[in-house]
Amino acid sequence: MTTAATTTAGAGTAGTAGTAGTTTAFRVCPLCEAGCGLAITLDGDRVQRIRGDRDDVFSKGFICPKGSTLKQLHEDPDWLRQPMVKRDGEFVPVTWDDAFAEVDRLLSPVLATHGRDAVAIYAGNPTAHSLGALLFLRPLIRALGTSNVFSASTVDQRPKELSSGLMFGGSLSVPVPDVDRTDFLLMLGANPYASNGSLATAPDWPGRLEALVERGGRFVVVDPRRTRTAEAASEHVAVLPGSDAFLLASMVFVLADEQLVDTGALGEYLAGVESVLAAVAPFSPEVTAPLTGVEPAVVRRLARELAAAPSGCVYGRIGTTVAEFGTVASWLVDVLNALTGNLDRPGGAMFTRAAAGAANTRGAGRFGRGVRLGRRHSRVRGAPESLGELPVACLAEEIDTPGEGQVRALVTVAGNPVLSTPDSDRLDAALAGLSCYVAVDPYINETTRHADVILPPPTALQKSHYDLALLQLAVRNVANYSPPVLPLAPGQIAEWEILARLALVVQGLGPTADPSLVDDLVLDSLVGSAVADETSPVFGLEPPAVIESLGDRRGPERLLDLMLRTGPYKLSLDDLLAHPHGIDLGPLEPRVPDVLRTPSGMIELAPEILLEDVSSRMVPRLSSPRSDALLLIGRRDLRSNNSWMHNVEVLVKGKPRCTLQIHPNDASRLALEDGAPATVTSASGTLEIPVEITEKIRQGVVSIPHGWGHTSPGTALSVASRYPGVNTNVLSPNTLVDPVSGTSVLNGIPVTVSPA
Ligand code: SF4
Repeated sequence: MTTAATTTAGAGTAGTAGTAGTTTAFRVCPLCEAGCGLAITLDGDRVQRIRGDRDDVFSKGFICPKGSTLKQLHEDPDWLRQPMVKRDGEFVPVTWDDAFAEVDRLLSPVLATHGRDAVAIYAGNPTAHSLGALLFLRPLIRALGTSNVFSASTVDQRPKELSSGLMFGGSLSVPVPDVDRTDFLLMLGANPYASNGSLATAPDWPGRLEALVERGGRFVVVDPRRTRTAEAASEHVAVLPGSDAFLLASMVFVLADEQLVDTGALGEYLAGVESVLAAVAPFSPEVTAPLTGVEPAVVRRLARELAAAPSGCVYGRIGTTVAEFGTVASWLVDVLNALTGNLDRPGGAMFTRAAAGAANTRGAGRFGRGVRLGRRHSRVRGAPESLGELPVACLAEEIDTPGEGQVRALVTVAGNPVLSTPDSDRLDAALAGLSCYVAVDPYINETTRHADVILPPPTALQKSHYDLALLQLAVRNVANYSPPVLPLAPGQIAEWEILARLALVVQGLGPTADPSLVDDLVLDSLVGSAVADETSPVFGLEPPAVIESLGDRRGPERLLDLMLRTGPYKLSLDDLLAHPHGIDLGPLEPRVPDVLRTPSGMIELAPEILLEDVSSRMVPRLSSPRSDALLLIGRRDLRSNNSWMHNVEVLVKGKPRCTLQIHPNDASRLALEDGAPATVTSASGTLEIPVEITEKIRQGVVSIPHGWGHTSPGTALSVASRYPGVNTNVLSPNTLVDPVSGTSVLNGIPVTVSPA
């Protein structure tokens, strides 16, 4: 039985085509932030092919090479279909009841003997795109009651979440570039031609950027590498790795120096303008040029262009966030937008009004609690938490350092931190010493090979989809829901049930407790908030009446329905089901002050913690001599998705992509030959990798893509192990973090390179 919204081929609906007897299901691709609409042709329960959905209101038929591989992922024989338990060092399949009984047997004694902090949890990137995982991960974390919460955010976007929280009061109140209307876009450390965009949800970035140029606009890419996006850009500025904060500070300096500050209509909501201008006074382009490698005249021209553009926007992504001054850089991006009048106006950097789940659409608006930081610290190095999590760079030491509070058990959800987090070899070794490790994951990969129990979720085509998190960052207001395309196979259970049952086990309710207990608790909490919110349509109603009005649905769908009904557009899940190509809710509109949730009700342009970082770490750097070491950066590829899609043959075959890119002059100086192996060494590790000599990379910089290194024994990745590559994170010292956000520094790592 096919459960998705389907049309019979040939019926003439929704632009579908196919032979008689086939059906077409429409669903949103959950693999990355772009959220493209897919048209999936089915013969019964067998996927025939996957194309872009031309009628999708947001993606209009765009699809990248990964989207069509949902079929291969679904059919991947290595994707686990039943739970696995390790017996005598080997994984054996078991029933769900047996698997949860094993979790209970191993985990409960750790909790009872050593306390809640003895169990750590790590959530990987795919949890952000899974409706069930996103809604039921929080109850699991609450049930664990541990301080040791980690996620991929601290190897990715935490600096942007943090700077947005400090400035606007909410970590997902991230201004996104109004790419479809802007006249001038300055992009730093972003390569959406390969990544398909991040922290700015927009299917078909290439098409949108090309349209920008066609309507007479310009987009400038700041990146040490001439990426595909840089090649398509109006201008490429080859900055030195890790120096974006200095470049941005210099641009703010120029605005002040040349009296170009014009905050426009937003001025009355901006607090701290003078403090920011004073903070950047030491950062003239002439002073920062040795650090950034960018000519002062270029910096001044870019600042003037931004200020003069009819509309303009600065957008920073991973190159700016996995850097030494990542939070300051993320903050200065929006400082520039605000000081040029481009924040919260069409064509500038704007806030999405999401249909469901956004904290910045609840309540009366403007005034809120803001974000609180440093409420606790990690045990070993004393690193502060941010947004409820500790830096994942601390995870290995929390496991392998004996003493009171040592982490002895681990739960991972859709993550492969052995490949994706720093100082990988140490984490790999530490995992082997755990008393209990439970993985919610479909694969036996480099991390989960250490697990005692693996609880596999269904495939993407067996899950429903509504991107609760990333639709809050869309460049247009859009809502789309996809029911599962294919049914669960006998023996599979839904992802939310896995997480709910885990929560019940760690709460001591046993391995067979009913997951609907957790579902009801989550619903009660959401309903309680909704009936207390005077802007909600259910304000003042009795909670049982609200719950009854939601009908018979259970699990994520019931929760989503409530969030839609109480969201700003008063939609319902039935509305979304009636629109399988999505609902376009219009272009972004100015939202200040309504979007704010700061205690002052103002945009905090000069958060104290960031001014302090500028004065204590950045200013002294201005007078430090720059190291002449080669600096290592990462890179994205359109056919990769971090570490976890390398088991799809069609995405990994062909010319090896895991290479060390190096400029011809550096290669010649170091006697490196194209295609020959090189040894790369950093303070934390060493690896061997084939050389790729290319003028696309700046001299003094080398690049290795992340997510590779499928060489560990005991994994079950039959394709990935044939295209292993190397794990660049053995070169990332876990001591290198942006101290404000705790985010790992993965760009700008000093390395030495020699022929192998
Ligand atoms: S761009 Fe992202 S959402 Fe779109 S098809 Fe590719 S992987 Fe899927």
